[in-house]
Amino acid sequence: MNITLVAGARPNFIKIAAIIEAIHNKQTEGFLLNYRLVHTGQHYDENLSRAFFKELCIPVPHVNLGVGSGSQAEQTAAIMIGFEKELQENPCDMVLVVGDVTSTMACAIVAKKAHVKVAHVEAGIRSGDLTMPEEINRIVTDSLTDYFFTTSEYANENLKKLGIEEHKIFFVGNVMIDTLLRYKDRFKKPVLWDDLKLTNKNYLVMTLHRPSNVDNKQLLKMLIEQIVNLSKGYPIIFPVHPRTQKLLNALHLNFKNLHYVNPLGYLEFNYLVKHALSIITDSGGITEEATVMDIPCITLRNTTERPETCSIGTNVLVGNDSKKIQNAFKKLFSGTWKKGSIPQLWDGHTAERIVNHLISIV
Ligand code: UDP
Repeated sequence: MNITLVAGARPNFIKIAAIIEAIHNKQTEGFLLNYRLVHTGQHYDENLSRAFFKELCIPVPHVNLGVGSGSQAEQTAAIMIGFEKELQENPCDMVLVVGDVTSTMACAIVAKKAHVKVAHVEAGIRSGDLTMPEEINRIVTDSLTDYFFTTSEYANENLKKLGIEEHKIFFVGNVMIDTLLRYKDRFKKPVLWDDLKLTNKNYLVMTLHRPSNVDNKQLLKMLIEQIVNLSKGYPIIFPVHPRTQKLLNALHLNFKNLHYVNPLGYLEFNYLVKHALSIITDSGGITEEATVMDIPCITLRNTTERPETCSIGTNVLVGNDSKKIQNAFKKLFSGTWKKGSIPQLWDGHTAERIVNHLISIV
């Protein structure tokens, strides 16, 4: 079987790394499973792309569509044009997309129109919030998917409610956690650890990149000021996403214990999370990683497409509600944060299960 794998943005690279490793293992066992890796170029900075290929040993993509930045529609269109040509020149039996970024949706549309089967890894998750571009990507992608690989019972139920036949749903677990468990012994102390004299559980990590938080200057200012005020002077390490940087440049918010840094590599970032008192975030993937590392996670969103991180894991949703943010910090500093456990099948063997299914499908 010839399969085309699509990766376009930071969270995709972390997922595809585990899948490629599982394919290589099957090839070594003698299975005939060929892949072509397509990088759409949606994320192209050294910090958001190349660093992950190096650290996670992802092979150089067979092609990079080089779409670069643009509006939602510009990026979608550029990816579709590039990927259509790619599929014409390099036909395949199946296109596998991961996650919920623009590349996921755009390549699923192109594949389906070219009558190529679509497999979606991380299918079925829903936040119910249509103001998130990712939610639209999820809905469109799943409406075209032939093989649904899911992370949770919630996702399975969502798909069943949509009328998806059960034999097309494969509950395999979480590939992002495959990568986390694979690399956890190689997490790397960042240089800033010594520079800022950080010690175990004596600092906070923060990431913000959702349009709902970082496209509104006043809201972003309010959130950062409130978090700094509640932080009791603990260092806050804030790797700034390029999207967020634009607004921060205009805000000039400087506080003694707030440390802005460039986006970190995977091994350094997760070293920081693993030893932090808490992570404050609006990311999806980070809520899953925090759950597995048993780190209190304060999520500045009102909804989540990963409810198991709250019901089973260490995550709490506070939106941008001052009262809820205050309560979360109170719990954190009183040492009464809930103890999480690890969701079913988040065991490091998800990619292996996916590849076993792929082999049996064709
Ligand atoms: N991440 C990283 N460096 C950083 C911030 C995040 O390596 O400075 C990793 C993090 O460990 C997780 C992924 O990026 O695996 C999450 O990506 P992001 O928050 O951009 O996407 P989302 O999960 O919200 O789709």
